[in-house]
Amino acid sequence: MSNISGKCLCESVTYEISGPLGSVYNCHCSKCRRWHGAAFRSRASVDVTQFKILTGSESLASFKSSDNVTKYFCKVCGSPLHSTYLDNPDVIGIALGALEGVLSKPEANIFTASKASWYEISDGLPQHKFWPTSE
Ligand SMILES: [Zn+2]
Ligand SMILES: [Zn+2]
Repeated sequence: MSNISGKCLCESVTYEISGPLGSVYNCHCSKCRRWHGAAFRSRASVDVTQFKILTGSESLASFKSSDNVTKYFCKVCGSPLHSTYLDNPDVIGIALGALEGVLSKPEANIFTASKASWYEISDGLPQHKFWPTSE
C-alpha cells in the first residue's frame, strides 16, 4: 500500500500516513461542525507511529477542545488538520478533507444526536447517536 499524503489549504503543512486508515466516520458532533464550518467532519483514526508531518510544523497551532482532545490546524490558512487524544495516545484523528488520492468510504454517521437541524442524512449509512462503541 502506498503512503497517503495530506496538506492544508496554503500547502505549508504537509504530512504522510504510512499505514491504513481506520474506519471512516462522518462526525456530526457540534464541535466538529464548528471546527470545520460544515454539516459534519469526515474523519478516520490512524496509528500515531504512522503519521508524520513532512513540512510546516512551525505553521501548526493547536486548540484544546475538551479535557482529552487537542485539535491541530494551520495558523496561516486555518485548515483543520488532525486531533490527538489524551485518553487514547496511540491514535491520531485525521480530517479526510485534507487527504489526497483514493480513500476508503465512510462507514457510518456518528454523534447524530447532535447533528445540524438543517442537514438531513440521506446516504443510507448506519447512524449512531454517539461514538459507535458506546452503544
Ligand atoms: Zn495552511
Ligand atoms: Zn465530532
